[in-house]
Amino acid sequence: MKFDTKYTSDRNQIKHVLENHNIRPTSQRIDIARVLLAKPQHLSAEEIFSQVNKKDDLVSKATVYNTLNLFVDEDLIKQVLIDSSYVFYDSNTEPHHHFYNEDTGLLQDIDDQEMLVRATPKLPKDTVLTGIDVVIRVKNQS
Ligand SMILES: [Zn+2]
Repeated sequence: MKFDTKYTSDRNQIKHVLENHNIRPTSQRIDIARVLLAKPQHLSAEEIFSQVNKKDDLVSKATVYNTLNLFVDEDLIKQVLIDSSYVFYDSNTEPHHHFYNEDTGLLQDIDDQEMLVRATPKLPKDTVLTGIDVVIRVKNQS
């Protein structure tokens, strides 16, 4: 399934996108999805939490984390793990890779076509390949 039209801030469209992913579109889930699906982007849970709570109604941190996990489970967004304490939520679920700038903390997309992964190791016994996600770590030139 392709979701070229999934980037939107329109509540009705978001409702349909959530339903297409078998997610019951509660008002808080729509609020959280609106932040993420506005465009292709990478946000931390903290950033999503503060953006969702710009408005009056408060969404708890636990709800934000639970909802993000649900979105990942239902393939609405992708999780990009930089290290155990640094996780990004990526609204772009197409296959792609990332540059991670250790100085700025910025994550940048690398198009799948631009990255040729030449060798893939022999898979562990009784497993199938589900995807290859490469994070290229960079820092600013001093
Ligand atoms: Zn990305």
